[in-house]
Amino acid sequence: MAFSLSNWTERHLQRKSLLSDAIIGAIHWLDPWTVADPGALVAAYAQSFSESGGRILQADIKSVQQVRDRWQVNTASETVEADEVVVALGPWAGSWLKELGYHFPTFVKRGYHMHYASQASAKLNFWVMDAEVGYLLAPMNAGIRLTTGAELDRLDAPADVNQLGAAEKVARSVFPLGERRDEVPWKGARPCLPDMKPVIGPAPRHPGLWLAFGHGHQGFTLGPATGHLMAEMMEGQPTSIDMAPFRADRF
Ligand SMILES: Cc1cc2nc3c(=O)[nH]c(=O)nc-3n(C[C@H](O)[C@H](O)[C@H](O)COP(=O)(O)OP(=O)(O)OC[C@H]3O[C@@H](n4cnc5c(N)ncnc54)[C@H](O)[C@@H]3O)c2cc1C
Repeated sequence: MAFSLSNWTERHLQRKSLLSDAIIGAIHWLDPWTVADPGALVAAYAQSFSESGGRILQADIKSVQQVRDRWQVNTASETVEADEVVVALGPWAGSWLKELGYHFPTFVKRGYHMHYASQASAKLNFWVMDAEVGYLLAPMNAGIRLTTGAELDRLDAPADVNQLGAAEKVARSVFPLGERRDEVPWKGARPCLPDMKPVIGPAPRHPGLWLAFGHGHQGFTLGPATGHLMAEMMEGQPTSIDMAPFRADRF
């Protein structure tokens, strides 16, 4: 088995002999950054946005249309008008943009996760990635999270939890995981484009329409950077980096 270990994981777990002897080698990452509760971080972003004067409207969008120079976003209960609109619909962006005549080659890499207790006093201090089998164990506020690699299937295909079950079997031979903590595995979809880079920037044929999607495996990490770059572009300022690799018209 080939593994990546964060430095503290290696020091703590190997000292206590909690990692299996089946591990014959590892890459030792010295300074990984992690988030123990991603949902709480996103909630904090939302709160910060509201406190800065932003309005958050949670609703199912039925349609988006351009009427003269304005954009209309229609939900079941109201129509919101704006000079500019950002389509940041992750895995759903591609199908929405078809209605406006854009055909991006979007696809998804689906994935699952499950939280576990630890057996007895076993503690996972930092993350461990099994690159050979393709899963990651990470200590989160909700428990030890096992996250799977990529499952190639349609966005709307039913969940197939075999991948998680297979990874769990191997993971249990590596670290003393306890019982499952979630009733059902969480299922998500990584929004991808063939060059594995996002689209960030103006829509080629619609003034006032901006695109930010396709962040693949790194959207949680890259979201704030994308927001920053999008703000620079929409304000007509020089951008912090060259945006050419992310242009919509590369497809
Ligand atoms: C198993 C797994 C593990 C991952 N691990 C990491 C990681 O460790 N680090 C990392 O950086 N990234 C990770 N990712 C990737 C990350 O989750 C995505 O890249 C990111 O969520 C994409 O963000 P987004 O805002 O573009 O799309 P999303 O987060 O999918 O948001 C799109 C939003 O659009 C909304 N929406 C869609 N249609 C409508 C509609 N009609 N009306 C209103 N709302 C609508 C959806 O409800 C959703 O909230 C992982 C993904 C998976 C599946």
